Amino acid sequence: MNHPMTTMLHETVEMPMHGLGVFQTPDGDEAINAVYWALEEGYRLVDTATIYRNEAGVGEGIRRSGLPRDEVFVTTKLWNSDQGYESALAALDTSLDLMRLDHVDLYLIHWPNPELTAETWRALEHLQAQGRARAIGVSNFKPHHLDQLMSTANVAPAVNQVELHPSLQQHETRAANGELGTVTQAWSPIKQGRILDDPVIVSIAESLDVTPAQVVLRWQLDEGIATIPKSVRRERIRENGDVFGFTLSDADIEAVRALDIGDRIGPDPDTFEG
Ligand code: NDP
Repeated sequence: MNHPMTTMLHETVEMPMHGLGVFQTPDGDEAINAVYWALEEGYRLVDTATIYRNEAGVGEGIRRSGLPRDEVFVTTKLWNSDQGYESALAALDTSLDLMRLDHVDLYLIHWPNPELTAETWRALEHLQAQGRARAIGVSNFKPHHLDQLMSTANVAPAVNQVELHPSLQQHETRAANGELGTVTQAWSPIKQGRILDDPVIVSIAESLDVTPAQVVLRWQLDEGIATIPKSVRRERIRENGDVFGFTLSDADIEAVRALDIGDRIGPDPDTFEG
């Protein structure tokens, strides 16, 4: 089954709302297989990054699927040490070489850098104009990082990918994204497994005869949040993709909303130096 939900980035580029994350997925067979299986299961978006060191395997998995290039949405991210104008241009060259692709669908600045982000963004705008990145965006940007970016940007980020799961619902960042027409995308959407034994999630899952991961992912999609769960196991890739055949009630959605405790599992963007 193809995943039916997509969104339009700035009304020009269609992006699937659901995809595969490949953080902590070793390059080689594991990355190739995870991507290949996901595409077989109907996923149409893969989220990698320079720092994951598996872009070669991601490219290979896409080729192995036999799908036309324009049916797969590929995201990669510029690492912190590549911030700056010239280095950002060179970084995408390297990523494209590793993936053996001539463009990405979305290129993200992985983490904000108050000194260099303006120049990096200028490079991303150039890459988008060249068509080497169909869309450009950011990751781990708080509202004040977005404000700073927009003081020099010509183009608003198409996407802001942030840590987001029921324990960290990111209301302020979602509102700031919304004002810019920026799509919010959730990283660690199932809190790296640490939300799956929550009694509220478990009880909703039991009532619908689905799994806790499926409840959390469906909740994100129902909130208008794009999501990129990671797994290297075929069964879990299938499970995490099988979230379109059931619906959450309004009460279920409210119950998940009530789980927000502001609990971050990853770094705080204001202090992370990578
Ligand atoms: P996730 O919330 O996607 O959780 C992944 C973990 O949960 C893995 O240990 C996986 O194990 C396990 N898992 C997956 N599915 C299930 C399931 N159905 N039941 C039980 N356990 C499951 O965490 P990630 O941190 O990987 O985030 C997802 C993606 O977001 C990343 O892969 C990456 O692409 C992106 N990301 C971006 C960041 C950024 O700074 N922009 C930071 C972190 C992530 P197994 O693989 O063994 O199945």
